[in-house]
Amino acid sequence: MSSTTTHDRLDKRRRLQAILSRDGPQCFWCAVPFDDGSRVATTEHLVPRLKGGPSWMENEVAACKPCNQRRGHTALGAWLVQCQQRGYPSRPAEVLSRLAALSAAIERRGGQRRARRYIASQNRRLRKMTP
Ligand SMILES: [Zn+2]
Repeated sequence: MSSTTTHDRLDKRRRLQAILSRDGPQCFWCAVPFDDGSRVATTEHLVPRLKGGPSWMENEVAACKPCNQRRGHTALGAWLVQCQQRGYPSRPAEVLSRLAALSAAIERRGGQRRARRYIASQNRRLRKMTP
């Protein structure tokens, strides 16, 4: 057994199930429920993979397809402004705490230089959005 944690080895589908049981069955951004089957849960990366974000549960939330597609590679701060404009529950404080947990995981595991830079810049932006 390597030192990586079990959830690293879960495949994407099982990781999404684990995320849903961690966070509850609703879109992280717009809060639409997944339980009635009308919206499909997709895996959303807080730090986009394009920006070096790892496929770890600490970097992943569940989002509905429309939110996932609309966000694309939009930076977290800019995306939360769009969420506010759409009337979605805006949660910069929640996103900040997720980024803190991700940073802690990166400290433990090392590497992820690009993700670290992204987190630092988004932290500055998100802190300005919190009261
Ligand atoms: Zn959504």
